[in-house]
Amino acid sequence: MGFDELLGNQRIKHILTSYLKNDIIPYSMIFFGPRSANLLSFAVAFAKGINCLNNKDNRGDFCGKCTNCVEIEKETFLDLKILEPDGQQYKKEQIAFLVEDNFRKPLKGERKINVLTDAHKMNEYSANTFLKVLEEPAPLNVFILVTDNMNPMLPTIKSRCQVLKFSPLSKTEIKTYLVKKGYDEEKARLISYLGSNMGKALEVDFNAFMKKRENILSILHSLLTRQGIEAILLDLFNRSRSREKFLDYFSELVNLLALMLRDIVVLKIEENSSYVINIDYKEKLMQLCHTITIHKALTLIRKMEYLLRDIQRNLNTKVLILEFIKSYTSQEVADV
Ligand SMILES: [Zn+2]
Repeated sequence: MGFDELLGNQRIKHILTSYLKNDIIPYSMIFFGPRSANLLSFAVAFAKGINCLNNKDNRGDFCGKCTNCVEIEKETFLDLKILEPDGQQYKKEQIAFLVEDNFRKPLKGERKINVLTDAHKMNEYSANTFLKVLEEPAPLNVFILVTDNMNPMLPTIKSRCQVLKFSPLSKTEIKTYLVKKGYDEEKARLISYLGSNMGKALEVDFNAFMKKRENILSILHSLLTRQGIEAILLDLFNRSRSREKFLDYFSELVNLLALMLRDIVVLKIEENSSYVINIDYKEKLMQLCHTITIHKALTLIRKMEYLLRDIQRNLNTKVLILEFIKSYTSQEVADV
């Protein structure tokens, strides 16, 4: 038990550990990175590291077994608050409470830890109020602002925080984790190729994932054979009503389509290649080989990669959808 249990981001673990070892706990920090990196679990681990009762002689880690560690895990520890926006944004009462509470001493632990999830969701008033907390550090308090989007945050807030930038999980990290959780190698490999968007999917059961893949294969079929494109377009527009869910769905879609296209290219070069990822779809992908040239498939893969980047940049959903459909249907690509 300890920091080793956390998935990925070794560099961040190292930084947090050295804070603990040297007893230099920053007053305010920003944990910034993709949702999939599971930043909250790092914040919770850091809270354990600070308050663990068994690390007095061996600072830098936590035991996971003492009452403090157990209570922090269950979120019943009195000196740990994990806040989330009440509605679309943090309400002014929520932030005003933090200001008021800031100089109260910890009740039980070494320090009070306040974690603000989706910390970028503050309006101007809340952000300015929160600034008061940062301007007058209380010695036994720690603030961890967790976010996947630092753009809307006030520069004055950012500059007062130690920013830790998390990376997306690598395929190997995901695969190792899944094997450790009891998945067989082949399944773990398949899931790990979902790439950086895996955070939530790691918790999802395998059958649901396979069903989703099947659906995406049929979308690829429609796109390449130009059948039923209106239905795909309509489905995407319907999904885009809920922006957050849509972005998750869309990046998974684009990611999996790119992997299937990649397999088509591999199969066109060598039918018996061992480099096919979606090996269980080999027959179906073979049937699609005649619908596309290698050059066009590679162009599309590149376009899908650009799209993924744009999704991460939080581009307008309508623009993303239209660009996506255009990639598959435009003459420019079709004629190559
Ligand atoms: Zn402990």
